Amino acid sequence: MSKLAILGGQPEVKNTSNDIFMRNITKEMEEAVLKVLHEWKMSSTDITIEFERAFADWHGMKYGLGCNTGTAALHCAMFGAGIGVGDEIICQSTTYWASCLPAFSLGATIVFADIDPESLCIDPDDIEHRLSPRTKAIMVVHYAGMPADMDRIIPIAKKHNIKIIEDVSHAHGALYKGKMVGTFGDVSGYSLMSGKAFAIGEAGIMLTNDRDIYERAILFGHYERHSEIQNPELAKFAGLPWGGYKYRMHQMSSAIGLVQVRQFQKDMVEIDRAMNYFWDLLEGYPGIRAHRPPRNSNCTKGGWYCALGRYVSEELEGLSISRFCEALRAEGVGWAHPGANKPLHLHPLFHNVDVYRHGKPTRIVFSDRDVREKIGTLPNAEAMAKKVFAVPWFKHYWPERIQEYANAFKKVIENYKQLLPGDKGDPEELGNWYLSKR
Ligand SMILES: *Cc1c(COP(=O)(O)O)cnc(C)c1O
Repeated sequence: MSKLAILGGQPEVKNTSNDIFMRNITKEMEEAVLKVLHEWKMSSTDITIEFERAFADWHGMKYGLGCNTGTAALHCAMFGAGIGVGDEIICQSTTYWASCLPAFSLGATIVFADIDPESLCIDPDDIEHRLSPRTKAIMVVHYAGMPADMDRIIPIAKKHNIKIIEDVSHAHGALYKGKMVGTFGDVSGYSLMSGKAFAIGEAGIMLTNDRDIYERAILFGHYERHSEIQNPELAKFAGLPWGGYKYRMHQMSSAIGLVQVRQFQKDMVEIDRAMNYFWDLLEGYPGIRAHRPPRNSNCTKGGWYCALGRYVSEELEGLSISRFCEALRAEGVGWAHPGANKPLHLHPLFHNVDVYRHGKPTRIVFSDRDVREKIGTLPNAEAMAKKVFAVPWFKHYWPERIQEYANAFKKVIENYKQLLPGDKGDPEELGNWYLSKR
């Protein structure tokens, strides 16, 4: 039996070079960026419009609207979909705040739903009882690359005549039953910032097939493109951005994006192969489960942003996830940290803060019911921090290198008993309000 590195043994990962986690930066990409600089076109829109077309075509969608962040793209999507004062949107509590928080500035509020403990996406059984006559949309987050259960979510939205907005920031290129996520709802928003799988700088994009949503989104934060608006009822009031926002994409980002649209489709295949290889090596090991769609489901995780594993402490005699990850890090698996996004419904912003000085917490000022969730009401979201952990996010299919990481997992699991005596348990707080620290 080999000695664990945390107890003084040799680390299992011998080659800890970062290259296996790094993106392909091509000559073509460099040249595209320099061209924008030399032509001094950073604030123009011509390349952005080309990028939008390419990104929308890749998805088979009619309209794309480039934005300077994913948050802006989701804000435009919400306004485009008609979210306004007094409305409610349903969103899973386990997500990055931008999935839902822009609703506040539209005078709308958020009702949080629980996640399915295996997919980590919204639990379709936890939606319907949270609806009210004010509910206007379900925000579907394809969390950590996992496609949400659209076959069960779409009928709920249809039945109650509410919209579906997809947050695809974690799942670029992912397939749900063979169809790309981001194409199921009325409108979708993507973050394209540097930490994401489809990464082009600081940027976002909104996709829709609905001309009205597209034009309203342009009205909201893209005043320089108001000439595109055809609807006379909207065009009458064009010229100034209705939202008071300026959401134009930086063209160094759109230039990278144009290259990425082609390159990512290749990169994604390699990432998918590398990540599946890693999890296949660990199939059947107690204490851990892959976070990936079932085989032969025709679902994929695209570029595997925020690659997570699920942890089943009971199978390792209650070994804490913190101790488990600490042992992995000692073996050279620097990615291994417990938790992911903290459940939003527990943050005081959603309970007490009066953002706009209405004299009442913003969460409830726009609605005639108190939608604030108490602790304990979204059990899966609340328990998640001790049940998931970050795993290495391989960008390259280099089998020998990946084996070293898998061997580190195997060694820790096979020798977990050695970790029990020194286990101090988990700290009270695990996870983050963001994911970028990994
Ligand atoms: C990153 C992210 C966003 C916001 O994107 P930015 O480009 O950072 O503004 C929205 N939703 C989710 C789920 C994200 O992870």
